Amino acid sequence: MTAKDPSPPLQLGTSSNPLDKFTDSYILFQETTRKYREAYEQLEEQFESLTIKLEDTNIDLQKRVEERDRVTNYLNNILDSMSGGVLVVDLNGDITHFNQEAEDVTGFKPSDVLGYPYTDTIGVSQDRGLTAMYTLESGERLINREKELKKADGNVIPLGFSTSLLRDEQGTILGAVEVFNDLTEVKRLEAEIQRVKTLAALGEMAATVAHEIRNPLGGIAGYAGMLERDLKADDPNRRLVGRITEGVGRLNRIVSSLLTYTRPLRLNTHPVNLVDVVEETLAFYAIDIERQRDDIEIHRDLPAKPLICDLDPEQLQQVILNLLQNATQAMAQGGKLTVKVYETDKNATFCIGDTGQGMNEEVLEKLFTPFFTTKEDGTGLGLVTSKKIIDAHVGEINVESEPNTGTQFFVTVPKKHTQ
Ligand code: ADP
Ligand code: MG
Repeated sequence: MTAKDPSPPLQLGTSSNPLDKFTDSYILFQETTRKYREAYEQLEEQFESLTIKLEDTNIDLQKRVEERDRVTNYLNNILDSMSGGVLVVDLNGDITHFNQEAEDVTGFKPSDVLGYPYTDTIGVSQDRGLTAMYTLESGERLINREKELKKADGNVIPLGFSTSLLRDEQGTILGAVEVFNDLTEVKRLEAEIQRVKTLAALGEMAATVAHEIRNPLGGIAGYAGMLERDLKADDPNRRLVGRITEGVGRLNRIVSSLLTYTRPLRLNTHPVNLVDVVEETLAFYAIDIERQRDDIEIHRDLPAKPLICDLDPEQLQQVILNLLQNATQAMAQGGKLTVKVYETDKNATFCIGDTGQGMNEEVLEKLFTPFFTTKEDGTGLGLVTSKKIIDAHVGEINVESEPNTGTQFFVTVPKKHTQ
């Protein structure tokens, strides 16, 4: 018999027999037990349903936490892969977010700034009016502004930035955001564009002047020739006429290099072995040098393997000659001229080095500026013309130099693909 079995209705106190009393008590006991059991089972059921509910709530909560993590991760990923630096300050002005790009741009590590006041970290060297702190205090956004930032390593860079207040869905202010970009490259390009524009204008003017000068120069040379013919061989004035002819020759050279520099460059490229071009130009130049200077030693370091590149050999020869000439001119007291050719992954390079006077920072900076020369009879057009030719070959010209030690010019051009 189980507690659930229906029991006969109770008739307590209807008998005075002890056995009956016992029976009554027993029945009462039974009944009570049954009630307890029922209550217990009910409780158990309730407990079970509560547990299920709790589990559901737990799962729900877990899901919400996961969802929140997912959203947070997602937002952090967006922040980290953004091409701008992003930092967030809370209402106290402490930095609470600092994305990967912010670290890359400023050089500050998240551990150096997170949780610290903006003004004590990245803001130390900044004008407060140009920071997220200003926006936090005034509520005013700063849009597409520029400022300078002292990086963690002490270098100062130009920074483009915008700020705004950060609010939650209810519109409560949580802090302020600052988004920024390193403008170094942009500034460099702006300067380069400005330089190219100036050069273009200068080139135009120079070309006009050169043409204007050419004709009267031709006249002067002609008349000087006639004058020389009329003078007797021992006439002292012949020396003066000689000076005129010399001067005209020099002016003509200047005008020619000016025209070469300013004339639009048209390349006539075909696949040629760069090693051959360098070798032949050097051989040609060496004849001259060896005749005039016995204090210059020439070293060649050329590979046996051909390096085929798409080149205009005549123009390239011009570049090599310019560099060789500069190198020998830099070694007034003699020295070593080194010519090397080598290849890298996709490129071929030739290097022309000297052990001459070298260059200081100031000269290095102006090296590729038209008409910049430190020589009495220089034109200051050799290197700009060379650069123009190498640029047209989609190549690069680089220099390493140290005063009183020497200089190395490296010219790199792409190898032909089908090698
Ligand atoms: P130029 O030779 O007519 O002066 P370039 O454009 O060829 O013009 O050179 C510009 C200047 O660069 C030179 O006047 C010289 O000061 C410097 N320079 C170029 N090459 C060298 C070198 N190898 N060593 C030292 N200075 C150099
Ligand atoms: Mg020169």
